[in-house]
Amino acid sequence: MIDASERLRYLCSALGTGYLSKDGLNASFKCPKCQHKDKNKLIVKLDDERWHCWVCGIKGRAISSLLGKYAKETRAGWIQKFGTAEQKKYIDEPEKEEEPLDLPEGFVPLVRTMMDPDFNAVARYLNDRGIGEREIWRYRIGTSLRGKCRRRAVITSYDCEGKLNYWTGRSIDESSVKYVNPRVERRDVIFNEIDIDWTKELTIVEGPFDLISVGGNSTCLLGSSLSTSHALFQRIVGNQVPVILALDKDVKKKAHDIAKLLFSHGISVRFLETGSYKDVGEMPPGEIEKAKESAISWSPNDRLYHLIRNISSGSIL
Ligand SMILES: [Zn+2]
Repeated sequence: MIDASERLRYLCSALGTGYLSKDGLNASFKCPKCQHKDKNKLIVKLDDERWHCWVCGIKGRAISSLLGKYAKETRAGWIQKFGTAEQKKYIDEPEKEEEPLDLPEGFVPLVRTMMDPDFNAVARYLNDRGIGEREIWRYRIGTSLRGKCRRRAVITSYDCEGKLNYWTGRSIDESSVKYVNPRVERRDVIFNEIDIDWTKELTIVEGPFDLISVGGNSTCLLGSSLSTSHALFQRIVGNQVPVILALDKDVKKKAHDIAKLLFSHGISVRFLETGSYKDVGEMPPGEIEKAKESAISWSPNDRLYHLIRNISSGSIL
Protein backbone atom coordinates (compact mmCIF):
# COMPACT_ATOMS: atom_id res chain seq x y z
CA MET A 1 0.00 0.00 0.00
CA ILE A 2 1.39 3.44 -0.94
CA ASP A 3 1.14 6.44 1.31
CA ALA A 4 -0.82 8.72 -1.02
CA SER A 5 -0.92 11.75 1.26
CA GLU A 6 2.85 11.73 1.76
CA ARG A 7 3.38 11.50 -2.02
CA LEU A 8 0.85 14.26 -2.62
CA ARG A 9 2.59 16.51 -0.12
CA TYR A 10 5.91 16.03 -1.91
CA LEU A 11 4.37 16.67 -5.33
CA CYS A 12 2.62 19.83 -4.08
CA SER A 13 5.96 21.19 -2.92
CA ALA A 14 7.33 20.51 -6.42
CA LEU A 15 4.40 21.38 -8.70
CA GLY A 16 2.18 23.71 -6.67
CA THR A 17 -1.26 23.08 -5.20
CA GLY A 18 -2.65 19.65 -6.03
CA TYR A 19 -5.72 17.66 -5.14
CA LEU A 20 -6.31 14.01 -4.36
CA SER A 21 -9.12 12.11 -6.13
CA LYS A 22 -11.85 10.50 -4.00
CA ASP A 23 -10.33 7.04 -4.34
CA GLY A 24 -6.96 8.45 -3.25
CA LEU A 25 -5.13 7.11 -6.30
CA ASN A 26 -4.85 10.17 -8.55
CA ALA A 27 -3.51 13.62 -7.85
CA SER A 28 -4.29 16.61 -10.10
CA PHE A 29 -2.26 19.76 -10.66
CA LYS A 30 -2.09 22.78 -12.92
CA CYS A 31 0.00 21.66 -15.90
CA PRO A 32 3.52 23.16 -15.73
CA LYS A 33 3.77 23.12 -19.51
CA CYS A 34 0.52 24.60 -20.85
CA GLN A 35 -0.60 26.46 -17.69
CA HIS A 36 -4.24 25.89 -18.75
CA LYS A 37 -6.89 28.14 -17.25
CA ASP A 38 -9.36 25.46 -16.19
CA LYS A 39 -9.31 23.28 -13.10
CA ASN A 40 -6.34 20.99 -12.57
CA LYS A 41 -5.91 18.92 -15.73
CA LEU A 42 -2.52 17.33 -15.14
CA ILE A 43 -3.35 13.91 -13.68
CA VAL A 44 -0.69 11.95 -11.83
CA LYS A 45 -1.45 8.38 -10.84
CA LEU A 46 0.15 7.79 -7.47
CA ASP A 47 0.12 3.99 -7.73
CA ASP A 48 1.51 3.16 -11.19
CA GLU A 49 3.07 6.64 -11.66
CA ARG A 50 1.66 7.34 -15.14
CA TRP A 51 0.92 11.02 -15.74
CA HIS A 52 -0.72 13.09 -18.46
CA CYS A 53 -2.27 16.49 -19.15
CA TRP A 54 -5.78 16.51 -20.62
CA VAL A 55 -5.17 19.83 -22.33
CA CYS A 56 -1.74 19.77 -23.99
CA GLY A 57 -1.16 16.00 -23.95
CA ILE A 58 2.24 15.77 -22.23
CA LYS A 59 2.57 12.35 -20.66
CA GLY A 60 4.95 9.84 -19.16
CA ARG A 61 5.30 6.59 -17.26
CA ALA A 62 7.24 7.69 -14.17
CA ILE A 63 6.80 10.58 -11.76
CA SER A 64 10.57 11.05 -11.78
CA SER A 65 10.38 11.93 -15.49
CA LEU A 66 7.67 14.55 -14.80
CA LEU A 67 9.77 16.14 -12.07
CA GLY A 68 12.94 15.81 -14.17
CA LYS A 69 11.31 17.87 -16.91
CA TYR A 70 9.34 20.47 -14.98
CA ALA A 71 10.75 20.63 -11.42
CA LYS A 72 14.32 19.44 -11.87
CA GLU A 73 15.64 20.20 -8.40
CA THR A 74 12.99 17.96 -6.81
CA ARG A 75 13.60 14.84 -8.89
CA ALA A 76 16.45 13.31 -6.86
CA GLY A 77 14.58 13.88 -3.61
CA TRP A 78 11.55 12.06 -5.00
CA ILE A 79 13.63 9.06 -6.07
CA GLN A 80 15.38 8.90 -2.69
CA LYS A 81 12.05 8.90 -0.90
CA PHE A 82 9.75 6.92 -3.17
CA GLY A 83 11.87 5.49 -6.00
CA THR A 84 12.55 1.83 -6.79
CA ALA A 85 15.98 0.28 -6.16
CA GLU A 86 16.59 0.47 -9.94
CA GLN A 87 15.80 4.21 -10.05
CA LYS A 88 18.08 4.85 -7.06
CA LYS A 89 20.93 3.08 -8.83
CA TYR A 90 20.67 5.48 -11.79
CA ILE A 91 19.66 8.57 -9.84
CA ASP A 92 22.30 10.80 -11.48
CA GLU A 93 21.54 9.72 -15.03
CA PRO A 94 19.04 11.57 -17.21
CA GLU A 95 15.58 10.01 -17.64
CA LYS A 96 15.32 7.49 -20.46
CA GLU A 97 13.14 8.70 -23.31
CA GLU A 98 10.44 6.31 -24.49
CA GLU A 99 11.40 4.12 -27.44
CA PRO A 100 10.66 6.08 -30.63
CA LEU A 101 8.51 4.47 -33.32
CA ASP A 102 10.28 3.72 -36.59
CA LEU A 103 8.97 4.10 -40.13
CA PRO A 104 8.48 0.73 -41.85
CA GLU A 105 11.59 -0.84 -43.38
CA GLY A 106 12.60 0.67 -46.73
CA PHE A 107 10.17 3.62 -46.48
CA VAL A 108 10.34 6.28 -49.18
CA PRO A 109 8.06 9.30 -49.57
CA LEU A 110 5.87 9.22 -52.68
CA VAL A 111 6.63 12.83 -53.52
CA ARG A 112 9.67 11.86 -55.58
CA THR A 113 9.84 9.91 -58.82
CA MET A 114 11.46 6.51 -59.08
CA MET A 115 12.00 3.81 -61.68
CA ASP A 116 10.79 1.09 -59.30
CA PRO A 117 7.66 -0.65 -60.74
CA ASP A 118 6.08 -1.28 -57.31
CA PHE A 119 6.64 2.34 -56.31
CA ASN A 120 4.82 3.43 -59.44
CA ALA A 121 2.03 0.90 -58.90
CA VAL A 122 1.37 2.47 -55.48
CA ALA A 123 1.32 5.97 -56.99
CA ARG A 124 -1.18 4.77 -59.62
CA TYR A 125 -3.33 3.11 -56.95
CA LEU A 126 -3.57 6.39 -55.03
CA ASN A 127 -4.29 8.32 -58.18
CA ASP A 128 -7.17 5.95 -58.96
CA ARG A 129 -8.57 6.70 -55.50
CA GLY A 130 -8.44 10.40 -56.23
CA ILE A 131 -5.36 11.01 -54.07
CA GLY A 132 -2.95 13.30 -55.87
CA GLU A 133 0.29 15.09 -55.16
CA ARG A 134 -1.37 17.65 -52.87
CA GLU A 135 -2.75 14.95 -50.57
CA ILE A 136 0.50 12.99 -50.70
CA TRP A 137 2.33 16.05 -49.31
CA ARG A 138 -0.40 16.96 -46.84
CA TYR A 139 -0.71 13.44 -45.36
CA ARG A 140 2.98 12.51 -45.74
CA ILE A 141 2.23 9.35 -47.72
CA GLY A 142 4.95 6.97 -48.81
CA THR A 143 5.64 3.35 -49.63
CA SER A 144 8.38 0.82 -48.97
CA LEU A 145 10.84 -0.52 -51.50
CA ARG A 146 11.35 -3.68 -49.41
CA GLY A 147 9.95 -5.45 -46.35
CA LYS A 148 6.36 -5.85 -45.24
CA CYS A 149 5.15 -2.53 -46.64
CA ARG A 150 6.25 -3.15 -50.24
CA ARG A 151 3.26 -2.58 -52.58
CA ARG A 152 1.49 -0.68 -49.82
CA ALA A 153 0.51 2.97 -49.49
CA VAL A 154 1.87 4.03 -46.10
CA ILE A 155 0.10 6.93 -44.39
CA THR A 156 2.14 8.33 -41.52
CA SER A 157 0.99 10.13 -38.37
CA TYR A 158 2.87 12.56 -36.13
CA ASP A 159 2.15 13.75 -32.59
CA CYS A 160 2.02 17.34 -31.33
CA GLU A 161 5.81 17.44 -31.00
CA GLY A 162 6.35 16.19 -34.53
CA LYS A 163 7.34 12.68 -33.46
CA LEU A 164 6.10 9.73 -35.51
CA ASN A 165 3.31 8.09 -33.48
CA TYR A 166 1.66 5.75 -36.01
CA TRP A 167 1.61 4.58 -39.60
CA THR A 168 -0.64 2.31 -41.56
CA GLY A 169 0.22 0.40 -44.73
CA ARG A 170 -2.73 -0.21 -47.12
CA SER A 171 -2.17 -3.03 -49.60
CA ILE A 172 -2.72 -2.17 -53.25
CA ASP A 173 -3.39 -5.85 -54.00
CA GLU A 174 -6.78 -7.20 -52.99
CA SER A 175 -5.23 -10.64 -52.33
CA SER A 176 -3.06 -9.37 -49.43
CA VAL A 177 -3.97 -8.50 -45.86
CA LYS A 178 -5.60 -5.09 -46.19
CA TYR A 179 -3.64 -3.16 -43.53
CA VAL A 180 -0.27 -3.57 -41.80
CA ASN A 181 0.18 -1.48 -38.64
CA PRO A 182 2.93 -1.05 -36.03
CA ARG A 183 2.57 -2.56 -32.57
CA VAL A 184 1.36 0.51 -30.75
CA GLU A 185 -1.46 0.93 -28.23
CA ARG A 186 -4.03 2.66 -30.45
CA ARG A 187 -5.80 4.39 -27.59
CA ASP A 188 -2.61 6.39 -26.92
CA VAL A 189 -2.45 7.64 -30.53
CA ILE A 190 -4.02 10.85 -31.76
CA PHE A 191 -3.73 10.47 -35.51
CA ASN A 192 -1.84 13.39 -37.04
CA GLU A 193 -2.20 15.47 -33.93
CA ILE A 194 0.44 17.73 -35.48
CA ASP A 195 -2.25 19.08 -37.85
CA ILE A 196 -5.03 19.54 -35.27
CA ASP A 197 -6.17 22.96 -34.11
CA TRP A 198 -7.74 22.33 -30.69
CA THR A 199 -9.51 25.69 -30.73
CA LYS A 200 -11.66 24.77 -33.76
CA GLU A 201 -14.44 22.27 -34.43
CA LEU A 202 -12.90 18.85 -35.08
CA THR A 203 -14.22 16.34 -37.60
CA ILE A 204 -13.76 12.70 -36.56
CA VAL A 205 -13.75 9.87 -39.10
CA GLU A 206 -12.92 6.16 -38.86
CA GLY A 207 -9.75 5.57 -40.88
CA PRO A 208 -6.87 7.45 -42.52
CA PHE A 209 -8.38 7.24 -46.03
CA ASP A 210 -11.59 8.85 -44.75
CA LEU A 211 -9.39 11.52 -43.24
CA ILE A 212 -7.84 12.31 -46.62
CA SER A 213 -11.34 12.65 -48.12
CA VAL A 214 -12.75 14.82 -45.38
CA GLY A 215 -9.81 17.28 -45.06
CA GLY A 216 -9.99 20.36 -42.84
CA ASN A 217 -9.44 20.17 -39.07
CA SER A 218 -9.88 16.44 -38.58
CA THR A 219 -8.53 13.20 -37.16
CA CYS A 220 -9.44 9.52 -37.28
CA LEU A 221 -10.25 6.90 -34.67
CA LEU A 222 -8.26 4.05 -36.28
CA GLY A 223 -11.41 2.03 -35.67
CA SER A 224 -14.89 2.96 -34.62
CA SER A 225 -14.75 3.34 -30.84
CA LEU A 226 -13.81 6.10 -28.44
CA SER A 227 -13.75 5.71 -24.65
CA THR A 228 -12.62 7.81 -21.70
CA SER A 229 -9.25 6.04 -21.75
CA HIS A 230 -8.45 7.25 -25.29
CA ALA A 231 -5.97 10.12 -25.53
CA LEU A 232 -8.19 11.68 -28.21
CA PHE A 233 -11.20 11.73 -25.87
CA GLN A 234 -9.16 13.37 -23.12
CA ARG A 235 -7.80 16.09 -25.38
CA ILE A 236 -11.28 16.88 -26.76
CA VAL A 237 -12.71 17.19 -23.25
CA GLY A 238 -9.64 18.97 -21.88
CA ASN A 239 -9.92 21.61 -24.62
CA GLN A 240 -13.75 21.56 -24.86
CA VAL A 241 -13.59 21.15 -28.63
CA PRO A 242 -16.89 20.84 -30.55
CA VAL A 243 -17.00 17.73 -32.72
CA ILE A 244 -18.51 16.58 -36.02
CA LEU A 245 -18.85 12.79 -36.13
CA ALA A 246 -18.56 11.36 -39.64
CA LEU A 247 -18.54 7.61 -39.13
CA ASP A 248 -19.70 4.93 -41.56
CA LYS A 249 -23.37 4.04 -41.77
CA ASP A 250 -22.85 0.49 -40.47
CA VAL A 251 -21.65 1.71 -37.05
CA LYS A 252 -24.56 4.04 -36.29
CA LYS A 253 -25.04 2.63 -32.77
CA LYS A 254 -21.36 3.16 -31.93
CA ALA A 255 -21.58 6.72 -33.27
CA HIS A 256 -24.52 7.40 -30.95
CA ASP A 257 -22.59 5.92 -28.02
CA ILE A 258 -19.61 8.17 -28.75
CA ALA A 259 -21.90 11.19 -29.10
CA LYS A 260 -23.56 10.37 -25.78
CA LEU A 261 -20.21 10.05 -24.01
CA LEU A 262 -18.87 13.34 -25.41
CA PHE A 263 -22.16 15.13 -24.77
CA SER A 264 -22.12 13.99 -21.12
CA HIS A 265 -18.71 15.68 -20.81
CA GLY A 266 -20.05 18.99 -22.08
CA ILE A 267 -18.98 18.61 -25.72
CA SER A 268 -21.32 19.73 -28.47
CA VAL A 269 -21.57 17.08 -31.18
CA ARG A 270 -22.90 17.25 -34.72
CA PHE A 271 -23.63 14.30 -37.02
CA LEU A 272 -22.50 14.40 -40.61
CA GLU A 273 -25.02 12.63 -42.85
CA THR A 274 -23.49 10.81 -45.81
CA GLY A 275 -26.80 10.72 -47.73
CA SER A 276 -26.76 8.02 -50.38
CA TYR A 277 -23.03 7.36 -49.88
CA LYS A 278 -21.79 4.50 -47.68
CA ASP A 279 -19.11 6.61 -45.98
CA VAL A 280 -17.24 9.89 -46.28
CA GLY A 281 -14.52 8.14 -48.28
CA GLU A 282 -16.98 7.77 -51.17
CA MET A 283 -18.23 11.36 -51.12
CA PRO A 284 -16.91 13.91 -53.62
CA PRO A 285 -15.23 16.92 -51.92
CA GLY A 286 -18.05 19.36 -52.72
CA GLU A 287 -20.62 17.04 -51.15
CA ILE A 288 -18.53 16.72 -47.98
CA GLU A 289 -18.36 20.48 -47.55
CA LYS A 290 -22.13 20.75 -47.94
CA ALA A 291 -22.70 17.89 -45.50
CA LYS A 292 -20.37 19.54 -42.95
CA GLU A 293 -22.28 22.80 -43.16
CA SER A 294 -25.64 21.10 -42.70
CA ALA A 295 -24.49 18.61 -40.01
CA ILE A 296 -27.17 18.47 -37.33
CA SER A 297 -26.57 18.95 -33.58
CA TRP A 298 -26.88 15.71 -31.67
CA SER A 299 -29.10 15.43 -28.60
CA PRO A 300 -29.59 12.45 -26.22
CA ASN A 301 -33.05 11.86 -27.73
CA ASP A 302 -31.44 11.01 -31.08
CA ARG A 303 -29.79 7.97 -29.53
CA LEU A 304 -33.08 6.82 -27.99
CA TYR A 305 -34.90 7.19 -31.31
CA HIS A 306 -32.16 5.23 -33.00
CA LEU A 307 -32.42 2.40 -30.43
CA ILE A 308 -36.23 2.31 -30.61
CA ARG A 309 -36.18 2.21 -34.41
CA ASN A 310 -33.82 -0.73 -34.31
CA ILE A 311 -35.84 -2.61 -31.70
CA SER A 312 -38.95 -2.32 -33.84
CA SER A 313 -37.07 -3.53 -36.89
CA GLY A 314 -35.56 -6.34 -34.84
CA SER A 315 -31.92 -5.67 -35.73
CA ILE A 316 -30.80 -4.98 -32.16
CA LEU A 317 -32.16 -8.21 -30.63
ZN1 LIG B 1 -0.77 20.73 -20.24
